[in-house]
Amino acid sequence: MRTLESLGDLRSQTVIVRCDLNVPLSDGQITDDGRIRASLTTIRELSARGARLVVISHLGRPGGVIDEQYSLRPVAARMGELLDTPVSFSDTLLGHDAEAARTGLSDGEVLVLENLRFHPEETSKDAQVRREFAEQLAQGADAFVSDGFGVVHRQQASVTELAQALPSAAGRLVEAELGVLKRLTEDARSPYTVVLGGSKVSDKLGVIDHLLKRVDTLLIGGGMLFTFLAAQGHDVGASLLEADQLDRVREYLAEAEERGVTIVLPTDVVVAQSFAADAAHLVVAADAIESSPFGETGLGLDIGPDTARRFAEIIRESATVFWNGPMGVFEMAAFAAGTRAVAEALTDTPGYSVVGGGDSAAAVRQLGFADSDFDHISTGGGASLEFLEGKSLPGLEVLA
Ligand code: ADP
Ligand code: MG
Repeated sequence: MRTLESLGDLRSQTVIVRCDLNVPLSDGQITDDGRIRASLTTIRELSARGARLVVISHLGRPGGVIDEQYSLRPVAARMGELLDTPVSFSDTLLGHDAEAARTGLSDGEVLVLENLRFHPEETSKDAQVRREFAEQLAQGADAFVSDGFGVVHRQQASVTELAQALPSAAGRLVEAELGVLKRLTEDARSPYTVVLGGSKVSDKLGVIDHLLKRVDTLLIGGGMLFTFLAAQGHDVGASLLEADQLDRVREYLAEAEERGVTIVLPTDVVVAQSFAADAAHLVVAADAIESSPFGETGLGLDIGPDTARRFAEIIRESATVFWNGPMGVFEMAAFAAGTRAVAEALTDTPGYSVVGGGDSAAAVRQLGFADSDFDHISTGGGASLEFLEGKSLPGLEVLA
């Protein structure tokens, strides 16, 4: 993969940097600026090398039309604060004004352009449409740096076609994320434990399939645990259940046994009367959910305390731990204990600890952990999972 070294002397060169500045917003305020911070290493380095930087990104899903609530203007302002230097903003991506803003840049200066996804061409399924859009974006630029790790698994104009339209290289964030993922695939030290949770088992089956060949232990929590329990013949009340995945889950359980991989399923769970922050709830044995006072309508919303303790012990004794997917509905305090226990164990383990996934990263921050408590928190959930599934990522292929 080509890195920034390959671009040579950048003094007075106009460099387009594709970042993933897709931050969560609430009432126009940025609620987590982690992705902006993660983009700064590359921006600082290019700026110090005298390049004139044009930063592009998407934000939210405006669906190919201009929608002010998804403007990158507040992101540009925040980036300026974090860099402690003015960052200019153009409220158009293409055309006269954007061009004027670009040609007005001096060496080392940074300009952020408006949201790529205000234009339907960015995510068009038609390669020719994407190519023409990328050529328009490339006009007046000398080089392209791909640093939006969260989008490298996407075939989109600013990720793939733009990299082909200009001399291009991966930025430092993409380089760092890949280094971590390689450490989790090729060079993982044993005992290697993967903790999986989150909502949908169908999203994660690909990664389970791939990881069974590599890991020693798989800990299963979150909404997906109920499909595993059901696959073993237990009733799970009204908990999340993907009935169409039962056969596949059974196959994985059998494959794990064959390969000597230990799949650890919860022995106790927190069952609630309804899906609400203040719902009545209690801890029950994992094989007795329907015997709880809530019967068939009881919902499992977190792993229980015994399970949390057992998961934490295994994590603390691992040399490598990768965690994706909250253990319960952490957004509600009553169902956050399992996620907290797993997060805590990752921060304590002497092993190499990595958190991947958008909601998982949000969960650890919401629960008060710092990014530095872990060896790495990935900025790209989908991209890391697809990499761990062994898929090739189009945004990296073009930088080969
Ligand atoms: P990530 O983004 O880290 O990959 P996911 O998107 O797979 O994680 O899942 C996150 C969501 O899973 C959270 O919103 C959480 O509330 C939900 N979740 C976790 N456990 C349960 C459960 N037992 N029932 C329903 N939803 C759950
Ligand atoms: Mg998610």
